[in-house]
Amino acid sequence: MVSLTGVNAAAAAEAAADPIVAVDLDGSIVYANPATRESFERSSLIDIRLESILTVQGGHTLLSVLGPTPQRVLVEIAPDAGEPFEAEMSVNPSDAPEGRYWVLVMHPLPRQELSIRELLRRATHDDLTSLANRSYLLEHIDTTFRDPRTADVPHCLVLFDLDGFKRINDNWGHDAGDAVLVAIGSRLLGLCRPGDVVARLGGDEFAAWCHNIDDRHVPDLARRLGSVFADPVEFDELRLEVRGSLGATTTSFAHDPNELLRQADTAMYRAKASGRDSHVIFDAAMAAELRERGVRERELRRALSTEQFVLHFQPVVNLATKVVIGMEALARWDHPRLGQLQPHDFIPLVESTLLLDEFNTAMIEQACNQLAAWQEQLSRPLSVWINVSPNHLSEAFVDRFSTLIRDLDLVPGRLVIELTEDATIATPERVAVLESLRALGVRIAVDDFDTGHSHLACLADLPIDLVKLDKSLVQGIAGRPERLSLASSVIDLAHALNTEVVAEGVECREDLEVLERLGCDHAQGFLLAMPSPAEDVPGLDVGDVIDLR
Ligand code: C2E
Ligand code: CA
Ligand code: CA
Repeated sequence: MVSLTGVNAAAAAEAAADPIVAVDLDGSIVYANPATRESFERSSLIDIRLESILTVQGGHTLLSVLGPTPQRVLVEIAPDAGEPFEAEMSVNPSDAPEGRYWVLVMHPLPRQELSIRELLRRATHDDLTSLANRSYLLEHIDTTFRDPRTADVPHCLVLFDLDGFKRINDNWGHDAGDAVLVAIGSRLLGLCRPGDVVARLGGDEFAAWCHNIDDRHVPDLARRLGSVFADPVEFDELRLEVRGSLGATTTSFAHDPNELLRQADTAMYRAKASGRDSHVIFDAAMAAELRERGVRERELRRALSTEQFVLHFQPVVNLATKVVIGMEALARWDHPRLGQLQPHDFIPLVESTLLLDEFNTAMIEQACNQLAAWQEQLSRPLSVWINVSPNHLSEAFVDRFSTLIRDLDLVPGRLVIELTEDATIATPERVAVLESLRALGVRIAVDDFDTGHSHLACLADLPIDLVKLDKSLVQGIAGRPERLSLASSVIDLAHALNTEVVAEGVECREDLEVLERLGCDHAQGFLLAMPSPAEDVPGLDVGDVIDLR
């Protein structure tokens, strides 16, 4: 029989008011203190399976919590006579010469606390699947790293994401979706070893924290866990095929729960990108990439907070009068080390981070402030044209805009929002946002309009005021009949729809003359004026015209 190590420990256990038991690998009781015998109202408990007199809550079994890491679980104890009661039970692995055993200490919960405990259980577990939730998982990983017995043992975190789960929900209803989640969760539990933690992170995302897995064995583990998708899930008369992607990482890459989650997530997205039903294991190259991204993100964050992003302005010139009617705001990054960077050097970077929203907002605010300044300084109307990323369009965006207009006392008609053509595909949500903007009095321009007649329809479908012909259509138009006829039909159609046309990227006089002949309303380009800081832009004063001679 296993004995508690040391006379003092044993004496303490004998004297303790709380039930303390020791169980072996099978969950059979090898020691029980007097308080236990009292609580369970039995004279002897030795060799009885603990689970025959107590139920572990939260979808666990006793064996599943007998792992190498200490844990805390909620149990319900049902004595032979008397009311069942709940207790918090700490599970502490311990090693004796005879083998491993677990010391379980129970703290019965006062009845009035039960509802608080229930709340606690709900806070750490997912209601649908009864698996652990994200915060429990993170907490548990953290405990692993803080416990000297498990801190340096290799562990593996695996993330699962179902492919096409939405389709199951849409086609067969939410009950079917729920059944899939429950089935996958319980299969995962079955594929893991005692002491591993299986969690539902939310939606159709699951995680498994597998202890004591050497890096060499991770591919096998990933394959084993991947078999969770091998069989269809049966629901009513249906057999639902479920696919998923899987990403794994190990503690050789990080000792921080959130970092591990990020790594597993990166690997999982790789798996998703490489095709359905595959797994990817985080490696040194991905680690280097993540670090690099971290560095760039910090750099970007600093750039935003120290206002290294500035706007240059390029005049939009009316072709009939050669008067500057507006200024397009174009972002530049005054990088402390690399000098001035152009949008193609940093916009993709900004878009790949979580800072896109902040960047867009900063640029929009700068542009509006500049418009306010010009409104004050100039004795003639001048508009400011702002490039807006398509995914930035939302009702919240409209609200922010309307606040800016009110706070800065802007004339709404002097704000033009430029949206790239593919972004303006007329979804009902987008049209609604554009309508709200126009209701404020703001004008909308379709940017980079270049493709053939298939897209002409969008001019009619969208609530817009202006079209900007892309440079690819404009440059060399004088010598290219096909460009000329395309531009000509866009201009005619736009005019028929009461939409004005701006030609972008005009670099030579021949092209400009053709555009004038076609009746194009306005133009922009190096020939007319380069983008420059607000204080240097030409054509601001009354009577100023852009002189090409
Ligand atoms: P875009 O909206 O099509 O802007 C016009 C681009 O053409 C600008 O490049 C401008 O400098 C350039 N350009 C003007 N005239 C000529 C010309 O005659 N010839 C040639 N070859 N190019 C000319 P830039 O400033 O590098 O901006 C590139 C793109 O970055 C913009 O394309 C826009 O899509 C995006 N962008 C710039 N600023 C912002 C911003 O504040 N927010 C967002 N979301 N996007 C921005
Ligand atoms: Ca633009
Ligand atoms: Ca453009």
